[in-house]
Amino acid sequence: MKENLVHSEAGDLDKIKIVVVSVSPQSRASLAAKYNLTVEDTAKRLTKFFHNLGVTFVFDTTLSREFSLIESQKEFVLRYRKKDIQSGMLPMLSSACPGWICYAEKTHGDYILPYLSSVKSPQQIMGSLVKDYLCSKLMKRPDQIYHVTVMPCFDKKLEASRSDFYSDTHQIRDVDCVLTSIEIEAMLTTEGVSLNMIEPENLDCFISKETPFPPELYTHLGSASGGYCDHIFMYAAKELFGQTLSKLEYKILRNQDFREITLEKDGEVILRFAIANGFRNIQNIVQKLKRGKSLYHFVEVMACPAGCINGGAQIRPMGESPKELLLKVEQLYHSLPVKNPAQDSLLKDLYEDWLGGEDTGKAKQMLHTQYHAVQKMNNALLIKW
Ligand code: SF4
Repeated sequence: MKENLVHSEAGDLDKIKIVVVSVSPQSRASLAAKYNLTVEDTAKRLTKFFHNLGVTFVFDTTLSREFSLIESQKEFVLRYRKKDIQSGMLPMLSSACPGWICYAEKTHGDYILPYLSSVKSPQQIMGSLVKDYLCSKLMKRPDQIYHVTVMPCFDKKLEASRSDFYSDTHQIRDVDCVLTSIEIEAMLTTEGVSLNMIEPENLDCFISKETPFPPELYTHLGSASGGYCDHIFMYAAKELFGQTLSKLEYKILRNQDFREITLEKDGEVILRFAIANGFRNIQNIVQKLKRGKSLYHFVEVMACPAGCINGGAQIRPMGESPKELLLKVEQLYHSLPVKNPAQDSLLKDLYEDWLGGEDTGKAKQMLHTQYHAVQKMNNALLIKW
């Protein structure tokens, strides 16, 4: 923002960047709990706060999560259909959590990588949307846009800095800067304002003829980490077995952070999915997989206990216990109306207008990524003499 001011004063108008901020629903819920606001009110006040700082657009990553959910559903069904002819297809392991991905790449390397879903996380899909689609709509170069995300954990900074999300051609990242929920709280404190003091403002529209006006907030079914398990389970039940499910009931296994759901036919389990949060449960899943004892078809894997809503950079409790605060943030997160991504006309329009349809080469390039085994360091300095 300061750089923009310098360029403006120097008359270097070409160097002025459009600043875009994309806020995650988990961070918004954390800020809502901190300032005792509804999530809608929080979103509107945050929009005003960022506009006052010189930000042009403030978006919600729930939109990019719709792409992530739809692509994950389709990837799962494809893998399921290939499972008997190709190894490493199942279980499909979700990949939206960089804490888990870093651990998988470093600790289990080549063995675990084929199981990871190739779908980008909502943060990185938002990065592609902003630096590719929005850019072309605004008739700007990608380096003329500075994209900031607001996320519930520090690991999202690592994710944004991966070489897979860097363009050599334009020498830019899809996400230039990641701010966490606690860093937004600190920014507000530094500016000497409380979110309660800021006037609410209408949310910004994503550039598309299908964007409702004024834009409304919504959420997705399932866990407060994005609902991957619920969405993929329901889609697979319908696509693979013709069963339409309206409500899912999980069975709690070893602890609250390890839940399982099954679909049965003639007394036989035909789909077995799980949600595994926290490293204790992740290790359990990985060990079972390595011993050839995993029964799962899909696992939603998140490194934080209780998932993204409890990310390591969410706002700390003040007066209440961590458990009370977590419950409050979770309730706020789930307080919005639920939307089915498959019925979102804005998403349909973006698939056409941005990607030229579903399953195109561009959709693959913009919505999917890859993983790399990280070699363990084994240099002379590490040798114990
Ligand atoms: S589970 Fe935790 S580390 Fe993983 S993406 Fe969510 S907040 Fe970040």
